[in-house]
Amino acid sequence: MPITKLAEGQFSQVCARCNVERDVTFEALAQLRDEQTEDVRFLLPACAQCGSIEILIPRGSGADEHPAPGSYGHLHRLLVNELSARIQGGSSSAGSPQKDELMKWFPEGLVLRRLP
Ligand SMILES: [Zn+2]
Repeated sequence: MPITKLAEGQFSQVCARCNVERDVTFEALAQLRDEQTEDVRFLLPACAQCGSIEILIPRGSGADEHPAPGSYGHLHRLLVNELSARIQGGSSSAGSPQKDELMKWFPEGLVLRRLP
């Protein structure tokens, strides 16, 4: 399910089953809104390649302590939390502790290299 990139109005995600990377727009997510069961979960559109459907689940505020700062898991959580903030708020979390954390770990932009 990893999110690999976050951009204005869309993000990139890798399918957990077939490993294909694709772009998902916030609009596509919004269209699935009726099917959302909880506010904090986001149903992703089915993978065009294999049809698998995944759910994005933000955890924590992103500003709290992570056991391994800078690790893949930590950076991925930051991306997921920022994504959820943007979807819910319609804009980025500018000015928040979460934003500071993002700037610290993603100085070159919100792109997360996939694990080898
Ligand atoms: Zn797939």
